[in-house]
Amino acid sequence: MTSDNHVAQPTQNANPQEAGSHEAGSHEAGSRGAGSRGAERHDVAGRQDRGNRVVDYDAIVVGAGFSGLYMLHSLRKLGLSVRVYEQGGGVGGTWYWNRYPGARCDSESVYYMFSDHMSEDILAEWDWSERFAAQPEILRYLNFVTDKMDLRRDIQFNAEVTSAIYDAERDAWDVTLADGGTSSARFLVTAVGCLSSTNTPKFPGIDTFTGKSYHTGAWPHEGVDFTGQRVAVIGTGATGVQAVPEIAKQAAHLWVFQRTPNFDVPNRNRPLEADYAAEVKGSYKELWEKARASGFGLPYQVAERSAVDYSPEERERIFEAAWAKGGFYMGLETFSDYLVNKESNDTVAEFLRGKIREMVKDPATGELLAPKDHPFFTKRPPLESGYYEAFNRDNVTLVDVRNAPVEEITPHGVRTGGQEYEVDSIVYATGFDAMTGTLYGMNITGRDGQKLEDKWADGPRTYLGLTTRGFPNLFIITGPQSPSVLSNMPVVIEQNVEWIADLIGHLREHALDGAEPAQEAEDQWVAHHNQVAAATLLLGTDSWWMGANIPGKPRTLYPYVGGVGAFRDICRDVADQGYQGLTLFRNEKDAPAPAGASG
Ligand code: NAP
Repeated sequence: MTSDNHVAQPTQNANPQEAGSHEAGSHEAGSRGAGSRGAERHDVAGRQDRGNRVVDYDAIVVGAGFSGLYMLHSLRKLGLSVRVYEQGGGVGGTWYWNRYPGARCDSESVYYMFSDHMSEDILAEWDWSERFAAQPEILRYLNFVTDKMDLRRDIQFNAEVTSAIYDAERDAWDVTLADGGTSSARFLVTAVGCLSSTNTPKFPGIDTFTGKSYHTGAWPHEGVDFTGQRVAVIGTGATGVQAVPEIAKQAAHLWVFQRTPNFDVPNRNRPLEADYAAEVKGSYKELWEKARASGFGLPYQVAERSAVDYSPEERERIFEAAWAKGGFYMGLETFSDYLVNKESNDTVAEFLRGKIREMVKDPATGELLAPKDHPFFTKRPPLESGYYEAFNRDNVTLVDVRNAPVEEITPHGVRTGGQEYEVDSIVYATGFDAMTGTLYGMNITGRDGQKLEDKWADGPRTYLGLTTRGFPNLFIITGPQSPSVLSNMPVVIEQNVEWIADLIGHLREHALDGAEPAQEAEDQWVAHHNQVAAATLLLGTDSWWMGANIPGKPRTLYPYVGGVGAFRDICRDVADQGYQGLTLFRNEKDAPAPAGASG
C-alpha cells in the first residue's frame, strides 16, 4: 500500500445491535479469518501537525470484543482519538461469532466480566442468571457495557482489516480494510482474540457435500434447526462437547467423529444463587485482586500440594469433592503439580477415566471416550453438561477417527474406515488457527517491509507477548507468549490493556512518540518463555496450544505458562523501571532514535 491517505466518506457506526446475519450454508460461508469505509481525515485532539506525518487517529484498535472495548475506553481516558475496526456486525468478538447450540462460558460468570476498572456502576448493575453464562447473555452483557460506556460511536463494524503497514517515514501505521478504505494511526493495537480464525480441515471432497455445513465459530445468527436431520459433528474439543448434547436433542441421528478424547469435567451449571452473587459483589475488590495474582486468573483456593503425597483414599476424597463442585476446580483446587509431575497427573487422569466409564453405558463407547494418550490439562479440558450421557441415547453414535481418519467428505456425508455415514448436515467443531491466524490474516508489515508472519516463521518472537521488535507501536492484546488462553480472559485482558495504556500515557507525558522492544529484551523473553514451557508436560501433547492442529504451524507453546500473577509482576517491574527492555523514541525523521529509557 502507498503512504497516501485515502480520504473517504465520514464514517457512521453500523447498526448498534448488530448488522446482518452470517450464513454458513457451505463450509466456505461458514469460515472467517483475520469492509468498511475509510476514515475521514480529521483533526485529532492533541495531534501535532507533522507535515507529511499526519495520521488520522492516535490509535487504531482492531476488534471489539472484551479487549477492544476496554482498550478503546482506556485510550479515550488518555484523551486519544481512537478508531476501532471490527470485522463483525456488532460487538462481542468470540461471543458474536460462536452462536452454536450449547455455547457458554467455561469461566464462572461472576468472574467473566470487567472489574471495577472498567466501571463500578456496571459491576453493580449487571446480574448474571447462571453459574456459567450462555452465549446470548454474554453478548447482551457486552452490548450493555458498550452502551453504558458510550463506546459504539468509535467502532466501525463490518470492517475487516486486510493490511497494516508501518511507515517509518511518518512513524505511522497505515491500515487498509477489505472494502478498500484506509486510515492511519500512530499506535496499532490488535484486540483480535486468540480463537478468531476458524480451522476447517482440508478433507478431500469437502466441496462436493450437497447438504449443509457449519463451522461452530461462524454460526448462523438465525440458528439452525436440526430436527429430524442426520447430523455429523466432527471434533470433540470444548466446542464439540458443548454442542453435541444440544444437537442430540433434535437430530434424528447424530454421529460424533472423535479423533482425540478429552478429559471433560462437569460444569454443574445452574441458576446463579442470589446469595452467592451478592457475596461475590460484596467482596469483589478482594476477589479480583486474588484472581490477578493467581496462576490462571481465577480466585480459587489453589492447593500447593502433590497428589503423590496423598494416599489413594485421601486423593479419592479430594477428587470426588472437586467432581461434585464442577468447573475448573478439578484442575485448580485439587493438586498443584499436574503440569509438571506425570505421576501426580496419572492419578487424576485415572480418576477421570473411571468417571467416564461409569457414565457411559456401552463399555466399548466408554473406553473410546476415555483419554489415554495425553496427561490431564495438557489439552484444554472441556467442561461438559450432558456430553457423556448423550452417548447413552439411541440416536447418538461415536465414530473413532483416530484409527481410521476421515477419508473424504462425499456428496452425501462422511467416509471413514471404508464406511460412508450419510448425513443432512455436517458441523465442523474443528477449532481455530489460534493466536497467530488472525494476526497473519491482517498482513501486518513492520519496519523494512518485514511481515509478522515471516518474522515468526519459526514461532512467535515477542517481548512480554505484547510487543515485537521491528514493529514499533504495535501492541498485541493476549498475544502469543503472554498468559492469554491460560487464564480467565477478562483478567489478563485488563492487565494487558492497562499496561499498554500506561505505556502510551508515559510516552505522551514525556513527549515521546513510540516504543519498540530491544533485541536483547525480546531474546530474553523468548528464552524465558521457552524455559518455563519446557518444565511442563504441555510440550509432549498435540494441542492447539502447541499449534499442532494446523498443518505446518511451528510447534511451540503459544501461551505463556508462567502464571497470570507472575506475568503481571514482570510487566509491572518493566514499567516501574522506565519500560526496561523497550526503546522509547521521539518522532524524529527516519528510524527511531533512542530517547529515554531503554533496556
Ligand atoms: P479444538 O479444541 O481445537 O478442538 C477441535 C476438535 O476437532 C478436536 O477434537 C480435534 O481433534 C478435531 N479435529 C481437528 N481436525 C481434525 C481432523 N482433521 N480430523 C478429525 N478431527 C479433527 O477446538 P474447539 O473445541 O473449538 O475449542 C478451542 C478452544 O476454544 C478451547 O480449547 C477453549 O479454549 C475455547 N472454548 C472455550 C469455550 C468456553 O469457555 N465456553 C467453549 C468452547 C471453546 P484433535 O484433538 O485430535 O486435534
